[in-house]
Amino acid sequence: MPRKFCAICGKDIDNNAPHFGMCFECYVIEHPLFELAKSFHIKACLDCGRYSKKETWYNTGSGDINEVIEDALHQFLLKSANKSDSIEFKIILNENSFNYSSKDLLVSLDVKIIGWLKENQSILHEEDVAVRIDYELCKNCTNLRGGMYFLSILQIRVSNPIHFNIIDTIINETYAYAEKIFQKDDRQYISKLVDHKNGVDLLLSTNELMNHIVSYLKSKYSFELKRTKKLVGRDTQKGRNLYRLKTLIRLLPFKKNDTITINDDIFHIESISRNKVILRDKLDNKLIKNFTYFFNEKIKIRLRDDN
Ligand SMILES: [Zn+2]
Ligand SMILES: [Zn+2]
Repeated sequence: MPRKFCAICGKDIDNNAPHFGMCFECYVIEHPLFELAKSFHIKACLDCGRYSKKETWYNTGSGDINEVIEDALHQFLLKSANKSDSIEFKIILNENSFNYSSKDLLVSLDVKIIGWLKENQSILHEEDVAVRIDYELCKNCTNLRGGMYFLSILQIRVSNPIHFNIIDTIINETYAYAEKIFQKDDRQYISKLVDHKNGVDLLLSTNELMNHIVSYLKSKYSFELKRTKKLVGRDTQKGRNLYRLKTLIRLLPFKKNDTITINDDIFHIESISRNKVILRDKLDNKLIKNFTYFFNEKIKIRLRDDN
């Protein structure tokens, strides 16, 4: 067999060489495993640490800037350089290159990216990328700081202002419940409370939060519920219509086993079902009334003190 040698460096090569005319070392130099743009630019949110390249904002969980940079590089740079998923990458942030703004925000740095073939770790390549970070507020934090953003309205009403104490309790409980949800997901919050003659409106940041609150209240109170929705726009990112949901909750001014007066007659509340109330009068007569009956402003319902 004739001797074979590398066309670039002249070294002898055998049949295991990756190319008929090149040794392994020269082949890797001529055919880098991946190629990256020399500079990379992202936006990061000042308040929450979400990051973005165009419109969509991504969450890293911790919001830590090093983690943001690594996530963003994987998401926007390395994914497309590794379409066949055959390369494993390691990202090294060069701390000596960290450049901070006057407000102490990391605004630029150099990053070394090392990648190797999963099936043959001796085939590796590295590239340097200059990273720049611009800071602004993401959509969610803009809304949060503005304090007036809402997508759904929860209307809580009683039939008469004398029953406002129920509303006060519900507001306190609902705020505590919403705060817990907000701690886990900062897109869910109560934007504003608006007073009304017979109750309040809670303006909520998402329809999802509305559904959570309604099922939470359902587990504790009896009320009549009416849902309506109104088309308010389109989510172009997700390609679907955006609706503003309105839910009206009308609370019964009593609980099971309460004694009440209706226009001066005394009744005992025997049970409350999904939309009906069973009452007993003094003579032990049974009465069944729809919820709607109790929201008629003309009848006067009062809780008896001897409950
Ligand atoms: Zn060679
Ligand atoms: Zn944010």
